[in-house]
Parts: sequence; structure tokens; C-alpha cells
Amino acid sequence: MIKIINSEEFSYFLRINRNEIIKRWMNKSEVQNVLHRHSLPVIEKNTHLFYQFCDCYISVIEWRATVSECQVKLDFLQLLNNYNVTVPDLFTLITKLKNAIEEIIFENGNLSFALQREIDSLTLEMGNDLANNFEILTQSNQNYKSENSNLLTEYKKAVDLSNIVSKTNPKGVITYVNDKFCEISGYTRDELIGKPHNIIRHPDMPREAFKDLWDTIKAKKSWNGVVTNMKKDGGQYIVDTTVIPILDVDGDVVEYIAIRHDITELEETKQQLRNINKAMKSKVDELYSMTNTLEQKAFKDNLTGINNRENFEDIFSIEIARAKQNNLPLSLIIFDVDHFKLINDTYGHQAGDIILKELVGLIADHIKNGDIFARWGGEEFVVLTPSTEIVGAHNLAENLRKLVQAHTFSYVEKEITLSFGIAQLCDDDDKKTLFEKADGVLYEAKKNGRNRIEVYNA
Ligand code: GH3
Ligand code: MG
Ligand code: MG
Repeated sequence: MIKIINSEEFSYFLRINRNEIIKRWMNKSEVQNVLHRHSLPVIEKNTHLFYQFCDCYISVIEWRATVSECQVKLDFLQLLNNYNVTVPDLFTLITKLKNAIEEIIFENGNLSFALQREIDSLTLEMGNDLANNFEILTQSNQNYKSENSNLLTEYKKAVDLSNIVSKTNPKGVITYVNDKFCEISGYTRDELIGKPHNIIRHPDMPREAFKDLWDTIKAKKSWNGVVTNMKKDGGQYIVDTTVIPILDVDGDVVEYIAIRHDITELEETKQQLRNINKAMKSKVDELYSMTNTLEQKAFKDNLTGINNRENFEDIFSIEIARAKQNNLPLSLIIFDVDHFKLINDTYGHQAGDIILKELVGLIADHIKNGDIFARWGGEEFVVLTPSTEIVGAHNLAENLRKLVQAHTFSYVEKEITLSFGIAQLCDDDDKKTLFEKADGVLYEAKKNGRNRIEVYNA
């Protein structure tokens, strides 16, 4: 038995049954199906819009508002559009809402044919209006999406062309490689997809480097660093690498994207520069030591290694000046090997050289620090003894004379002897006169039989 209800009763009836209407509407399998298919989550924010839309629909069918006055519909449509709900789905939703209302009216015995027709026609009007609005939204959304997807394709192309790109799943298994990746690693795409990413790990890479990488990306942060990878043929390539974790809506890592560029040449050039630097440094060191040797050579006698004449003359001047300034004694000893020509003639010039070296070694060991021993020329030598009176110089000369006479030299059977001339610096002496005094008495020593010492007496 159908009751005829007036519009106030109708409004009141709808309002008190509002929750029941919504419950039935949302629970309808067709509605659930739409929500599932489009993964539209039933969260509070979304159900709130379903409630508001239901209110809006109710106010239209009870003639309290016109379709165009129903503002909330745009937010509702926007929600549907966000989840790519289609126009047929939209009609399903609105039809099911109408069904839920009709069911309740019917169960209460209030659904007249006239009311049903009224609801039908208002629903149709509302449906058309919604579909129009929805189409406009979808259109602009699609334009936006296709613009974005074009842009994304362009970006991807640009990245793929200029970088070595790969993707892995959260476990590090390769799911994507671009052409550049295959080109540089020497693997084909088939050889890489499904393999663990460490297929290109170079044995020289320290384990800690990868630990840092994994710690960073597992913490959902991007990692950047220089990595040496191994090619299929065992060769290496060096890449500047950025690994980016890609997260899903719940914030979980779904994959990792690695973007790298080849810096092998750069790194090799750097290494070459380091090598060149090292080589240059050792050349510079070599030059330094050569300069040192050259400097030494300029002061030293080539054969014997003791002070040469030029160096001695410089020191001689300095010592004379110092002795005079400080009023200190200074003595000069000159000695010459006796009959050295004979040694050369008997044993050869080379043997003569060896004997000269041996002689210098023997004497040098007995020259105290502060005395200056030098080769004046040929087989003639000088010893300058600062702060030493003639007696001290004579003692030294006598020691040397005995030492040499007692020494057994290489090559020569008979003994080698020296003749000495000694002079002490006087106030009016200079380098030249002191030398002449000592040299003069050396001549005397030779004349007086050799292997002896003569002292200059003022
Ligand atoms: P004296 O006892 O009068 O000094 O006789 P001497 O034969 O030693 O005569 P003098 O000092 O005039 O001659 C030195 C010789 O020493 C002449 C030269 O051939 C030789 N001599 C000079 N320098 C060197 C040298 O560096 N090596 C060799 N092997 N011989 C040298
Ligand atoms: Mg001589
Ligand atoms: Mg001589």
C-alpha cells in the first residue's frame, strides 16, 4: 500500500535516513567495484566527500537546491578524476545512490510511481550535469598528463643519452639498463637483466665503499661517489655515480635508479699527471744532487778528493786575516813526494795515481779537525795549521814523515818518503810571502837529502 507523502515529509524522511542511505550506497558491490578498480582508498577525507555529495544529491531531489547550485560536486568530481574514474563509473555511482534511496523509500512503503519518475528525471539531469563537468576535468587532466608524460619521455631520453643508467629492485637485482650501460660494460642487456648488480663490481673496490652506498640508499637517501667498475672483458671503467632510491606512496623503497657518467679518461689523466709530477720530483732531486756534486767538485781535487788549490787559496786568505785579527799563530807545511818521477817511470802513471790516493788517505786520517789539507799540484801538498806555532807544525810534519816512511804502499817494493818545508806567519807576511818561505825551505830539504823537514827561520 503506497502512501502519498508531501515534500516536507519527504525531506524529513531522507534526513533521518541519511546515514543508512550512505551506508547502503557505499556498500553496494558496483560502488565497491569502482573504488577497487581505481584504487580509490576509503579514507576519512574521501568518505567525507561521498557524504557531502550524497547531501548535495538529496537536496536536489527534494527540490531544495538546483543541480547548478550543488557546489560540492566539483570537489567530488575532482576526487574521482584524481583516481581516473571514468564517466560510466560516475553514472554507476550516481545510479547506485539513487537505488539506495529508492530502496529505503520503498521499504517504508512511500515510493510512488510519480516520486520515482521525479527522482529519475532529477537524477538524469544531475547525471548529465556531472558528466559535462567531469568531461571538462578529465580533458584538462589528460592534457596535463600527456604534457607531463611527453616531458618525462624527453627527460628520460636526455638522461639515457648522456648517462649510464640502470635500475635495480630493492635487493640489487638489475631490472633495467640503457644502451650506454651495455656499451661501456661490454654485456648485452640479456646478460644483465635479472643478475645482481655486483656483476660489474671491480675486485679492487674497497668493501667499505659499498657499505656506505647501501647504508645511505637503504636509509632512503641518494648516494654519490666515484666507483671503479669491471667490464665483461675484465677491463675497468671509472664512473661518477648517483644512486637514487624510488619510494612508493607508503614511503617504501620500490627500486633504485643509478645514473653515472664515465670519468675514466679524467681519472686516467689525473693519474698520468700524478706520475708526471712524481717523475719530475725525482728529476728535480737528481738535479739537486748533481748540482751538489758539481759544487763539491769545484772545491775538491778530482783524483784525491781533498781541497783543490783554488779552494785552498781562498781558505788560506781567510785564515791569514783571522790569525792577524785575533793575534793567533798560523803555520804552513808544504810537502812533496821524493823521486816520484821514478815511481811513475817504474810502475806506470796509473800506479802513480793509486799511490797518490793511498798517500792522501793515509795522511788525511792524521790531520785534525781545523787543519786544512790540500793538493797544491802534482805530488805536492799543503797543510795549513791555524792557532799552531812552528813547533806544533814541526811535530805534525815529523809524524807524517814517519808514518809515510813506515807505510807499505801498493805496487812499490821500496819505501816512499816525503820532504817538508815549514814556515810560521809573521806580521808582515801575506799569502804569497808565507808560501814562498815554506816552499823555499822545502827546496832546502830536497837539497839536503830528502825525507826530512826544514823550518824557515826569520
Ligand atoms: P823530487 O824528489 O825532486 O821531487 O823528484 P820528483 O821525481 O818527485 O820530481 P818532481 O817533483 O819535479 O816531479 C813530479 C812528478 O810527479 C812529475 C809528474 O809526472 C808526476 N806527477 C805529477 N802529478 C801527477 C799525478 O797526478 N799522477 C801521477 N801518476 N804522476 C804525477
Ligand atoms: Mg817530487
Ligand atoms: Mg814535485
